[in-house]
Amino acid sequence: MNTIPDLEKEVSEYLNYFCKELPGRSVGSEGNQMATLFFREALSSMSWAVESTPLQVMDWMTEGAELTCEGHCFSIMSSPYSLGCDHDLELAAASTIEELEQGDFKNKIILLHGEIAQEQIAPKNFVFWNPEMHQRIVRALEQSGVKAIICATGRNSATTGGEYPFPLFEDGDFNIPSVFMKDVEGEKLLPFCGKKARLTSCANRFAETAYNVIGRKGRNPQKRIVITAHIDAKKGTPGAIDNATGVIVLLLLADLLKYYRGEPVIELVAFNGEDYYAVPGQMQFIADNSDTMDNIILNINIDGAGYHTGLSSFSPFNLPEPIQPIFNKLIRETPEFVEGIPWVQGDHSIFVQYGRPAIAVSSQWLIENMENQNVTHTPKDKPSIVNPQRLVEISLGLQKFIRELVLQIKS
Ligand SMILES: [Zn+2]
Repeated sequence: MNTIPDLEKEVSEYLNYFCKELPGRSVGSEGNQMATLFFREALSSMSWAVESTPLQVMDWMTEGAELTCEGHCFSIMSSPYSLGCDHDLELAAASTIEELEQGDFKNKIILLHGEIAQEQIAPKNFVFWNPEMHQRIVRALEQSGVKAIICATGRNSATTGGEYPFPLFEDGDFNIPSVFMKDVEGEKLLPFCGKKARLTSCANRFAETAYNVIGRKGRNPQKRIVITAHIDAKKGTPGAIDNATGVIVLLLLADLLKYYRGEPVIELVAFNGEDYYAVPGQMQFIADNSDTMDNIILNINIDGAGYHTGLSSFSPFNLPEPIQPIFNKLIRETPEFVEGIPWVQGDHSIFVQYGRPAIAVSSQWLIENMENQNVTHTPKDKPSIVNPQRLVEISLGLQKFIRELVLQIKS
């Protein structure tokens, strides 16, 4: 029998492993491979049938970037997943799409600043969200003959978490080398337009393999309850609430449901790629389920859970009878859970797009401060911001919820 203190201790140990012992969990990195192996072995040891799906991905490294112009040095970083470069070329600038489309940037280095650099550009091949304006910016850059891009950016929590500056491009499918700098640094660089700039970015792409890991229990694969959490973290962050805590809930559930023998199949899915430009794990899951999406009774996705301040948030999406009343009861009977607003930046959106019912589990604080928080995707996302108690409550709550749902389906 698992006591609450036992479970809390388990949470702390897992947190320590995922966020401190592993050297990061960005897709395809060594730490990412260790994390998926750990998850796989943990589920196997609790007698889940486990499947690992290999994903061909690109990992990336930089040894830094430098920019000098007439003896002045500017502080810049290589854009994640960008190609490297070494150029000594004329500097030009654009702050709007019109300036970008009409200017002459052939064989130049372009500084993108102001309006055009307000939010991260969707990766070229990202199918879930890709505004027309972003595609137009990418097209204009690719047609311009520009040799490298310097992006001067502020903060945009809604699209990039708490990073300042944020990388305007984070796209391994976009082949113009780019770097990024703070908006205030961009203002200092702007007067040097027309002058020669020396830009070096020591970045490299290389091929790697990553894995989705799926654990299954239950008898009837025509009825599936799919519980998901992404196991990858943004490069350079410990990824505590984004999303070690989600994976920890899966691990606690694996333990709590160890003896599950119900009819619906319960799938515990560690997705690899939510915080990666090409979302490979999610794309693979969709491809593997193209004919079987309809037998998913419910998706429960955990992302951003366990923040130390505030309660846990459960956001329902298209819940049919008989799930809605069970959901209402769960919220009513658990003082630590609140019903959350529908938010879209998570893997539950995949299921919602395919018309499947879903519940997104997160932290109330994070959902309410999505637009202005400065925690996720930064080094601040570390174990000290997690309240282990919240994860135990979520796991026990979900265990109870699943038990009632399975009973309901049977009757
Ligand atoms: Zn996340």
